[in-house]
Amino acid sequence: MSSGQPTVRLCHLYPDHLNIYADRGNIAVFQRRLEWRARSLDVVEVGLGDPIPSDCHLYYLGGGQDRDQMLVAEDLVQKADPLRHAAHDGAVVLGVCGGYQLLGHGYSGADGRPMPGIGLLDLETTAGSSRLIGDVVLDATLGGRTRTVVGYENHAGRTHLGGGCTPLGHVRQGHGNNGDDRCEGAVAGRCLGTYLHGPLLPKNPWLADTLLGWALEHAGFGVDLEPLDDEIEAAAHGAAATRAGRRR
Ligand code: GLN
Repeated sequence: MSSGQPTVRLCHLYPDHLNIYADRGNIAVFQRRLEWRARSLDVVEVGLGDPIPSDCHLYYLGGGQDRDQMLVAEDLVQKADPLRHAAHDGAVVLGVCGGYQLLGHGYSGADGRPMPGIGLLDLETTAGSSRLIGDVVLDATLGGRTRTVVGYENHAGRTHLGGGCTPLGHVRQGHGNNGDDRCEGAVAGRCLGTYLHGPLLPKNPWLADTLLGWALEHAGFGVDLEPLDDEIEAAAHGAAATRAGRRR
């Protein structure tokens, strides 16, 4: 779009393979929340064999089944340098579930076969013998602020963080990274991974705006995002939190 509006460029990695639970909805949230503020989003879709641009402000990697992750993992590792450079320069990276696992050092799937990761996040994942499924509520801390984040998880992977990243949050309800340490997700600089699908951002507008603020800052447009009327989003957030409470 060349409307003269401040534009955020988003690289959507593997939209055809990593899009379980309609994770594509997260992109729609980025788009609408920018448009409501007279800004815009340009989306570059990158599939198998396509090069990754290094000049995007936001990179997005959704979730997928082991089979789909296996298809993309090698391709991603071979061409990840522009993504690493962009992240190093301050671009925002968001990985959800399968995408989160591939941002780490690697994922050993349910059949035991190892998949390489790109090491943007200092973490390792190994599939367990059961799946960790259900609604999740966590206290997430980003940019010095702690808020409740809600979502849904469905993963076999057990993720353990190294010293190079911190958890996104503390699990109040649900399983989180591995079902043991009550931690969920990982953050290193502006690179963030989480197991929460659902999709994640429609129910967590604070998280969407935090990431958009970072992306706008990286794009050179300043971070001030005027508040929106988030009544519907707050209701969705509340409903997810209530449902998680009932399933305890
Ligand atoms: N295949 C991965 C796992 O089972 C990721 C699942 C997902 O993205 N929902 O852990």
